[in-house]
This record gives sequence, structure tokens and C-alpha cells, in this order.
Amino acid sequence: MKSKRSVTDLLEALRKRGNERSHSPLATRKWQRVIRWRVGEEEEFWKVVEGSFVPSETLTPQITLSCTPEVLEKILNGDLEFFVALWATGEIAFEGSFADAFRLGYVFLSDRRQRRVVFLAHCFLNCNPRFPGGCAYEGATVPLIQTLLECGVGIVQMPCPEFLCLGLEKHLYGELEEFELRRCFRNLAAGVIDQVEEYLKNGHQVLGIIGMNPSPSCGVEVTKGKGTMLGIDADTSEKEGPGVFMEEMQMIAEARGLTTLPFFGVRRVLPGESGMESRLETVRQRLM
Ligand code: SF4
Repeated sequence: MKSKRSVTDLLEALRKRGNERSHSPLATRKWQRVIRWRVGEEEEFWKVVEGSFVPSETLTPQITLSCTPEVLEKILNGDLEFFVALWATGEIAFEGSFADAFRLGYVFLSDRRQRRVVFLAHCFLNCNPRFPGGCAYEGATVPLIQTLLECGVGIVQMPCPEFLCLGLEKHLYGELEEFELRRCFRNLAAGVIDQVEEYLKNGHQVLGIIGMNPSPSCGVEVTKGKGTMLGIDADTSEKEGPGVFMEEMQMIAEARGLTTLPFFGVRRVLPGESGMESRLETVRQRLM
């Protein structure tokens, strides 16, 4: 269908959208470019100045974008994703670098992603490293995963610290000194916080760092047998406070100035136990 708007109006609407800054704050950082648009028979130039697209006189461009007015209309109506037109379907012919194509894609992003993520204890998605008898589900904790999916969040699976530091069946229990175990957990926790920071820098919401209560490693509000796992006592009762992995992660987050990250735990459900529904409701209320 022929576009009803003039090319000038279409490009102006697109330029305004690019300047609305709904995109990631990094998308236009340190990016100085001249963009030439060729739309139908018409030509227009933009400069990127301090993160904004500004109309410009004719200059030597680093990027050239060519398309029909109808393609711009489709993009503005939300019927076509800018980067898809540029990279996949070829409806926008592009001359420029790979890096510039991606920058443009993120600036004009309008797909369905919500930029909302949670970080989830590994064994909720993959129960295989879980302690013997600890899996009420065949592969993943289906009701919890289902709830997270319904909340529209991306799920980032954290590493299982016991698997990576003690082996799948934890055969190194009792062989590592407390400091060795903590160091191994700390390195993994630092990797998680690196990812958290990257999401935050790019304008995402991190809505939860979800541990598993009462794991001595991944518990958040309560743990069981933490001192036993560290080899420093023989107390296997439940105690308030975070497990070793979460504790290390919280310390790293704090040291990096991330003092308000939403850590919380979901208590595991053992075979034959009930109570999952109320736990899921709590999760839902936090994330909706
Ligand atoms: S609670 Fe943590 S350490 Fe234990 S199996 Fe799950 S992910 Fe691994």
C-alpha cells in the first residue's frame, strides 16, 4: 500500500522516535556518524550529535540507508522491525559497518522484549545437580518456570556452585578447605554479578536474584547445614541467613555499589510435599 505521508514527514517521525531515548543508554554512546537516507527519489542527511539524530546538510556519510516510503511507514506502524528490514529481509539496503547496523537496530528497537529479567538458581531449571531425593519433577521445576514465563521475564540460569566446585554428585565434599570452597563460590558469584551489571547498564530491570531455600549454598532467607558443608561445624539444623554462594554474591554486589538488588529465595518442594501454590503466588506478586 502506498504511503500517505511525505518522505520528509516519515523521516521526521523516525528521527523523533530515535531521539526518544527509549533505547539502551549505551546504544548511541560515543557514536558520531553521518547517515544518508535515500527514500524513493529523495535524499536526507542526519548527524548523530551527543546521542541524538540531528538533520544535517550534505556531508560524507559513514552509513547509507535506502528504502521505499512504504517500508518506513511499516516500521513506524510497528508492522516491521527496523533491524529485520535492514539485516534479514533487505527491505532497507544498508551500507556501513556491522557495528553501526547493530547500533541502529537497538536505537529503533520495537520488538516485544520487555527488558525484565530474573536470575534463577540453577537447579530450578535443571534439577540434575540437586541433592539425592530432592527432585519432585523430572527435569525442571515446572510450576515455578511456568509462573516466571507467565510473568514475562527473561530467565537467566545462574551456575550451580556445588556442581562446579564439588562435582555433579558432590564427591569433593569434605575435601576442600573452607577458604577453597568460598573462593570457588566467590569466583562464580562474581560472574553472576558481572552479568547483572551488564543488564543494568543496558537499561534492563533485574527483578530478582532467586535462590533456593534452604540450600547451604543458594538459600537466601534460610539455610540448612551451611557450617557442615564448609567443614566448620556439625550442625545440620535450619538457620536464618544466606547460603555461601548467595552470601558471596551479596558481598560482591555491595562492594560494587549494587545495594538494592532484589535477592529472595523460593523454598524447594520435595517429592510428596505441598505448598508450591503459595510460594508461586509470592513470586507472581513480586514480578507482575
Ligand atoms: S541449590 Fe544451588 S548448589 Fe544446590 S543444587 Fe541447586 S543450584 Fe546447585
